[in-house]
Amino acid sequence: MQSPLIPPALAPKLAKLGIAAPAQLLLHFPLRYEDHTRLTPLSAITPGQAWLVEGEVDSCEVKYKPRRQLLAHMSEGIAGLTLRFFHFYPSTQTQLKVGTRVRVYGEVRDGFHGLEIVHPTVKRITDDETPVAQSLTPIYPTSAGIAQAAWRTMIGRALKKTEWMGETVPSAQIAKHSLMPFKAALNILHAPTPEDALSALEARTHPAWQRIKFDELLAQQIALKQARDARAGEVAPKVLGTQILQKQALARVGFTLTQAQRAAAETIGRDLACAAPMQRLLQGDVGSGKTIVAALAALACIEDGYQAAFMAPTEILAEQHFRKLSIWLEGLPVRIVWLTGSLPAAAARKAREACESGAAQLVVGTHALFQDKVRLPKLALAIVDEQHRFGVMQRVRLRSRNRVSDDPSGVAPLAQNEFTPHQLMMSATPIPRSLAMTYYADLDVSVLNELPRGRQAITTRLVSAARREEIVARVEKICAEGTQAFWVCPLVDESEKVDLQNATATYEALRTQMPDTKIGLLHGRMKPDEKAATMAAFIARDIMLLVATTVVEVGVDVPNANWMVIEHAERFGLAQLHQLRGRVGRGEQAATCVLLYADKLSDTAKARLKVIYETTDGFEIAREDLRIRGPGEVLGPRQSGIPGLRYANIETDMDLVEAARDAATTLIADSSFDAEPHLDRWLPQRAEYAKA
Ligand code: ADP
Ligand code: MG
Repeated sequence: MQSPLIPPALAPKLAKLGIAAPAQLLLHFPLRYEDHTRLTPLSAITPGQAWLVEGEVDSCEVKYKPRRQLLAHMSEGIAGLTLRFFHFYPSTQTQLKVGTRVRVYGEVRDGFHGLEIVHPTVKRITDDETPVAQSLTPIYPTSAGIAQAAWRTMIGRALKKTEWMGETVPSAQIAKHSLMPFKAALNILHAPTPEDALSALEARTHPAWQRIKFDELLAQQIALKQARDARAGEVAPKVLGTQILQKQALARVGFTLTQAQRAAAETIGRDLACAAPMQRLLQGDVGSGKTIVAALAALACIEDGYQAAFMAPTEILAEQHFRKLSIWLEGLPVRIVWLTGSLPAAAARKAREACESGAAQLVVGTHALFQDKVRLPKLALAIVDEQHRFGVMQRVRLRSRNRVSDDPSGVAPLAQNEFTPHQLMMSATPIPRSLAMTYYADLDVSVLNELPRGRQAITTRLVSAARREEIVARVEKICAEGTQAFWVCPLVDESEKVDLQNATATYEALRTQMPDTKIGLLHGRMKPDEKAATMAAFIARDIMLLVATTVVEVGVDVPNANWMVIEHAERFGLAQLHQLRGRVGRGEQAATCVLLYADKLSDTAKARLKVIYETTDGFEIAREDLRIRGPGEVLGPRQSGIPGLRYANIETDMDLVEAARDAATTLIADSSFDAEPHLDRWLPQRAEYAKA
C-alpha cells in the first residue's frame, strides 16, 4: 500500500488489521475518547475522574522501592500533583525536567502522598498560549507498533479526503431510516466536539454509530442477497423420489419421527423437488435429531440416482455419522463411502474413484472432502453439519467448492449438463430463530423445536472443586454400575498444547484414583485413527470413563454415556457448556452433568453458571449469555457464529438489522442503484461472495 498518508513501515501492520487501502482508515473507529479540550486549575481537581491540568515540574526522580518507577511532582500555586510511571523511557525524564511547564492528562486518584496520576499523557508547554484541543481525543484499537499518535495523524489526514467519504446510500433510504450523512458520522466518530454526547458515543448508540452500523449491515445484506439471487438462477436437480428408501430406513432406525422432524423433512422434500437450489438451515437444539432428517433428504436424492454428501467439522463427528448412517442404511441398496484427509493413500484413492464414477451414493467426511479435488458428478445434495462452526465466508466458499467443476477455485462456468447441488446446513446454533432468518438473508430456516420423546431431563449440578473427591467416588460407582461418563478437562487458554497437558494430567490422576475403572483419553492432538479407535472403544464400552478436551464438544452421540463432569466450568463459554452438556442425556436414562467450579468466582461467572444450571434451552442460553456479557463485548466468531461484523451486533442492533434488510431488498430491486461503491467500502474482500 503506497500512500503519502501511510508511513511505509506501518503499511504491513495495517494490512494485518484488514486496512488494505488508505480510505479504509476511515472505518477504523475509536474505542473511547479523552477530553483534552478543557483545562482545569490544579486546585480544582478531584479524584475518580480524568482531568487536563497544567503546572510546573518541581521534582523528578527514579525510585527503586517498592519497585522501579519514575516519580515526578508538579505544582501550580499551592496545589500539587504526583505523576507516577512504572514504565518510562529516558525521554519521559527529559520531558519532566525540573522547571518545565507541562500539561498532563489522566485519571486522578488519591495516592499515598495526595493526588496522583499513574501514566499520565504529558505535553511540554513552551508558550502560555498553547491552545487546548478543539475536539475530543480518540483512542483507537491498535496492535503492536502502531502508536495512538500515528493513528490520529493518519486518520486526521484521511478525514480531509472528501472523495473518500462519498455517500453510497441513496437519499431516499437515508431519509426513510433517519440516518445521519456518512461524512458527518465519520467526522463525529473520529473527532467529536465536547458538545457531542460522549456517553452515547462510547456506548455506540449515538446516531453517528447508528449510521455506521447500518452501512455495515447493509453491505452484508446486499452481498448475501446478491449471492442468493445469483443462485436462484442456477439449476439444481429436481428430486422427486418414491420415498421407498426413506420408509425402509425409518423402519430400521427404531424410533418414530417427532412432529418437528416430520415437518422439517417435508419442507426439505418440497425444496428438493424444485429446480432452484435449496439453501436451508436446519436449526435444532442439541439432541433434537437433525441427523435423521438430513439422512432422509439424502435418501430421496439417492433414490433418484444422484449422490449426496454429508460433511462434519471434525473427524470424530464425521466418523460417528458414518457409523450411524451405515447402521441405519444396512441392508438398503445404498453405497456409503467414507472420505477424510487422514485416510491412507490407497483407500483415499479408492474412495475418490467411487465418488467420481458415481458408485458412491452417500459420501461422508470432513470438510477436507471438499477442499481436495473430489469430483462428485451426480452430487444433488450437500449436507453441512454443525454449520455454526464455520463463518459466512466459509459457507460461501463451501458452496463454490461443491460445484461440480474441475476448476479448483470453483468459479468456472457450469457446463451444460452440470448443476448446482441443493444445500442443507445444520446447526444447534446459539442464534435465536427470528434473528437467524433476518440475518442469514440467503438462507431459509427450519427449526426442530422439540426433543424426541422419552428423553430424560439432564440434571445439572454446580459443585465446588473442593468437593472433587466426592465426584470422583461417584463417577467410579456409576461406571462400575455400567453407565459411561465423560470427564471434560478445563480450557486453560486457547492453546491446544496446554489443554493437552491438562487432559493428560487429569487422565493420569484419575487412573490412580480409580484403578478399577476403564479410562480412556481423547484430545485434539491425537492422530485421527487413534481418536477413532478411542471413540470405538468408548462406544463398545471397553472404555467407561472418557477423559477429553473439548473435542467432544460437537455432535458426539453415545447414548449410554449419561454422566459428564466438566472441570473449571467457569472457564467455558455458555454456548460451549451447553454443547458439551448436550453430549449426555441422549438415551433414555436420566443424565447428570456436574459443573465443577473454582472456589473464587466473580459475580459474572456466577451469573453465567446459574443460567446453565437453570435452563437447558439453547436459545435461551444464548440470549442470556449475550445479556450478561453486555453489548459492548464483541463475540468471538466461535461463540456467535456470526463472523464478519465489526461494529453491529445483531442481537442488540436488531432494529438496524431489520432496517438494513429492508433497504437491501428495495435497493437490489432498483436498477438505478449501483451497489459496488458501498460494497467496495465495506466488503473489500467480498470476491468470495460474488463467486458464490
Ligand atoms: P442432533 O440434532 O444434536 O444432531 P442427533 O441427530 O445426533 O441430534 O440425534 C440425537 C439422538 O437421538 C440420536 O441417538 C438419534 O438416533 C436419536 N433420535 C433422533 N430422532 C429421534 C426420535 N424421533 N426419537 C428417538 N430418538 C431419536
Ligand atoms: Mg448433530
